Amino acid sequence: MTRRSRRSRSPTARPTFETADAHRLTIRALLHDASERFRTELVDAPAYTAETPYLDALVLMGTALKASREQVLASLPDPISDESQDEFRKLVEARASGMPVSYVTGTREFYGRTYRVGPVVLIPRPETELLVDLCLLEIDAHRPANVHDACTGSGCVAITIALERPESTVSASDLSGEALTIARRNASALDAQVEFTQSNLLDRVEQNAPFDILTANPPYLTDNEYKRLASADWPEPQLALAGGEDGLGVVRRLISDAIDRIATGGRILVEIGADQAERAQGIMAEAGFKEIEKHRDLAGHDRVVSGRRW
Ligand code: GLN
Repeated sequence: MTRRSRRSRSPTARPTFETADAHRLTIRALLHDASERFRTELVDAPAYTAETPYLDALVLMGTALKASREQVLASLPDPISDESQDEFRKLVEARASGMPVSYVTGTREFYGRTYRVGPVVLIPRPETELLVDLCLLEIDAHRPANVHDACTGSGCVAITIALERPESTVSASDLSGEALTIARRNASALDAQVEFTQSNLLDRVEQNAPFDILTANPPYLTDNEYKRLASADWPEPQLALAGGEDGLGVVRRLISDAIDRIATGGRILVEIGADQAERAQGIMAEAGFKEIEKHRDLAGHDRVVSGRRW
């Protein structure tokens, strides 16, 4: 049942929106309108990006007010200044046009830190925190470690590892120079020591090898999955998402190149799509890795495969 129908049956009920004065809308009213708009207008957007209309509005309000989410929630009955309202409306327009919230605000949280993002990098996903967790556990068993993160994009995996385990040596690479510009900015804003190299997978990163741990969140969508996103004008870079016909083209080359760059006893950790674990494990076995395992994310999906070099 909608609020409107509830109200129409009970005309004396408190109105849904308080207006602090006749001309000023409250933050609550603007959030409600924006989230209704996202809920009804973003129906064709890729599912996972349109599931949180209220949260999206809240994040955009935080940006407009330069306030934390908690501060916004504490100010729901307050009026909003004209200036902040104009700013919020601009952000809402951009989101309603289909742009992901993280590109609208230019930021995204990952592992409790804020990263700059833009349409030249993949938006960090919460499930990728599993890749980081597995790497940190491995470092704890063999510290300090020499870690390389391939396909680093915004740099969030490499930077998190460098900050969580500062005694380790962390390097990272990406094919995209534009992505590396963002990754370098993120590293310096967060004061993380990471050496970045522009490279097609591991082609130009041999100077730091052999690595004790190699992490990667490579593109792994199938061509068909990517085409569906592209036809909905999804703005994340093809380079970060499309992994060839079966989605495993880049994973395959990365794994076979990695075996010679990993130290004896070292570990490879690769993020994959939920239905790709067995095939990725097979690719690791063929490349010569041992102790091959798959790991589930918090949603219960296979998300990372790992192997060890003997
Ligand atoms: N998990 C991402 C998605 O579903 C894909 C990320 C990737 O290809 N590395 O859109």
